Amino acid sequence: MSPADPRTYDLEALRERVLPETGGAVDESIPQLAEASPDLCGIAVVLADGTVRASSQADVAFSVQSAVKPFLFALALLDTDGEALDRIGIEPTGEAFDAIKLESHTGRPPNPMVNAGALLTAALVDGDDPDARTERIVRGLSAFAGRDLEIDDEVARCEHLLGDRNHALAHLMRAEGTLEVGADDAVAVYARACAVLVDAQTLAVMGATLALGGVNPVTGERVVSARVARDVVSVMATCGVYDGSGRWMRSVGVPAKSSVSGAIVLSAPGLLGAAVVSPPLDEQGTSVRGRVVSERLSADLGLHVFGVP
Ligand code: GLU
Repeated sequence: MSPADPRTYDLEALRERVLPETGGAVDESIPQLAEASPDLCGIAVVLADGTVRASSQADVAFSVQSAVKPFLFALALLDTDGEALDRIGIEPTGEAFDAIKLESHTGRPPNPMVNAGALLTAALVDGDDPDARTERIVRGLSAFAGRDLEIDDEVARCEHLLGDRNHALAHLMRAEGTLEVGADDAVAVYARACAVLVDAQTLAVMGATLALGGVNPVTGERVVSARVARDVVSVMATCGVYDGSGRWMRSVGVPAKSSVSGAIVLSAPGLLGAAVVSPPLDEQGTSVRGRVVSERLSADLGLHVFGVP
C-alpha cells in the first residue's frame, strides 16, 4: 500500500481513534505536571514546504520538559563548534532518564538525551552566567520554533527545588571534572529550559527544523548547520526514548524524543517533523497515546527509516 499524503491525512480522525486509550499515568514530579489533564491529546505535522497540519488541542500550551534535550544538544554543538561531542557520550544507556550514572572510564554523561547529558549541554551554550545561558537557550529554541517562546517561571522554580536527582547528577559531574559551572547554576538553567512553554504545533516545527537539515521550514531561517542537525537526529534515533529506544526504533522507526509532559517530538529525516502530546505515560516515561499516534503516523505516511517502500 502506498503511503498516505501528509497534506490531506486526517489528523483529527487519528486523534479520535486514540482518545479511548486510557492506559498510563500522568507524571507527578512537580504539581504543574500532576495537574495536567489525562484527556489532552494534540497532534501536529510540519512538512518540508512549511505546511503546518494540526488536530484540535495542538495549540494547548505545556512545558517542553525533556523534548528540549535534542535542541539543547544542537545549541551546545553550535556554540562550542562541535567540541560538545568530546564532552558527552553518544551511547544509549538502557536506563531511566535520571539514572545517577556517568561513563565509568571518562566521567562524561552517557548521552545528551538523558538528564546528565542535558544538564551539561545546557551548561555548554554561550553565556557567562545562568541568566545569560538561559537567555541564549530561549533565543535558540525560539529560532527552532519560529516564534518567541517563554518560560513558565513557576514550573522552573519547582523543577529547580524538587529536582534532587538533577542536583545529584550535577554534583557528580563536578566531582568528575566534567561540569565546569556551579552545580546549582547548572540545575537552574536546565530547569528553566525544561519549563519553556510550547504546544504540539510549535514542537512539530522544531522537529521539522532538525529533520530538514537545520532550516526552519516555516520561517526559512537556517538555525543550525546540516551537520549539527544530522548529529542530533542520529542521537535521537539511538537514545531519544531512554530505555525504550530500541523498541521505539523497531515499531515507530522515526528519530524522536519523549518527555514527562507527555510530549513526543519526531524528526523524520528529509521528510517532516511531527509532535504529539498526551500526558499519561508508560513505564519508560513515553506517552501512551503518543506512542500509538507515532506508530500510526509512521505506518500510514511511510516514515520508518528502515522501511522499504
Ligand atoms: N524535567 C524533567 C526532569 O529533569 C525532565 C524529564 C523528562 O521529561 O523525561 O526530571
